[in-house]
Amino acid sequence: MPDLPVSELLELDRRHVWHPYGPMPGRVEPLVVESASGVRLQLAEGSGELVDGMSSWWSAIHGYNHPVLNEAAREQLGRMSHVMFGGLTHEPAVRLAKLLVDMSPDGLEHVFLADSGSVSVEVAVKMCLQYWRSLGRSGKQRLLTWRGGYHGDTWQPMSVCDPEGGMHELWSGVLPRQVFVDAPPAEYEESYAEQLRSAIERHADELAAVIVEPVVQGAGGMRFHSPAYLRVLREACDAHDVLLVFDEIATGFGRTGALFAAEHAAVTPDVMCVGKALTGGYMTMAATLCTSRVADGISQGEVPVLAHGPTFMGNPLAASVACASIELLLGQDWLGEVKRIEAGLRDGLAPALEIPGVKDVRVLGAIGVVQLDHAVDMKAATDAAVREGVWLRPFRDLIYTMPPYVTGDADVARIARAVCAAAREG
Ligand SMILES: *Cc1c(COP(=O)(O)O)cnc(C)c1O
Repeated sequence: MPDLPVSELLELDRRHVWHPYGPMPGRVEPLVVESASGVRLQLAEGSGELVDGMSSWWSAIHGYNHPVLNEAAREQLGRMSHVMFGGLTHEPAVRLAKLLVDMSPDGLEHVFLADSGSVSVEVAVKMCLQYWRSLGRSGKQRLLTWRGGYHGDTWQPMSVCDPEGGMHELWSGVLPRQVFVDAPPAEYEESYAEQLRSAIERHADELAAVIVEPVVQGAGGMRFHSPAYLRVLREACDAHDVLLVFDEIATGFGRTGALFAAEHAAVTPDVMCVGKALTGGYMTMAATLCTSRVADGISQGEVPVLAHGPTFMGNPLAASVACASIELLLGQDWLGEVKRIEAGLRDGLAPALEIPGVKDVRVLGAIGVVQLDHAVDMKAATDAAVREGVWLRPFRDLIYTMPPYVTGDADVARIARAVCAAAREG
């Protein structure tokens, strides 16, 4: 492959390539990454390397270029990188489904392999709507969620993203109108629990499901809340014939100090979405798990099938890397590593509280967040982190990190220093 000179690459990028939530042509020059290994991103043309504080948006939990994951991909590539999943099956997909069923909360038995997190949420919503339709209750087609959430960028997921931070105003009249309650407080408050219960009761006839991110709200604002609210949701949903969906796309695979955040409350949802870290950050794949109650309901309907089937469903290459990533995770003291990073972030981010303009500092599992009392100056904050040798991607009023679990103590300290520097400059 010919090497493009960096200046030409950036010019072509600016003119032709969309970036996440970006304008066209691009206005901010991105950094060019040449390769990545362990927890380090190698920049092009000798611009040095950066310690990755983002795990490529929660996904690269084992770091980059991992020999075990590389081998899994190579081995599968030698067999087949893809075959259609209609009428055919294969070991990587079946093994992955079994691993997910075994490691997820008890009662989740059936797995739909989707090609991205947003699609897995679409599938979760479709499962819930179709479940009630099958039972002759087609009036139950709305969703209830709390504010401050993020569930992806396709239509159904967008409709349950935070109405303020999301794109609701732009899309009012186009998006399905869902039921919103206030964002959950960090600590347990009985009055808020009561608000959840009464909203679910009041809307029960039109609600197919409640959908939330358990314990940590990610891209909607990096907020943490008491796991006790998950039990409140479970009880209220059971009492009023509403399904409960947990979106564990960000929280899954150990990030919060439990394999899945639902475990903090010992609650099993009816439907659960996983993605992001599923393949250790190697490829795009997500999954929607459901209970036998949901699957049986759908399968007894007038249309007794789950009507969804993406072209790249169950992709063998992604599935074998996902199996390898899960086995790698479960084969190590992942909780010890997450706790070690948690302690490092607590130590390293404590000084941020003294920085003028910092409103809150919070750490949970391998997630560290510094919230400002103003919108981040993205360029100043990112540049400050880069000067510390660290890659961060702040948004809104938030500078945050969720490093790969293999990040050593010195690099965790360095990331924390970079978060503080970004908070000072941003
Ligand atoms: C990232 C994310 C999604 C969307 O996943 P994509 O793979 O980006 O489509 C959905 N829900 C949550 C909680 C997420 O963090």
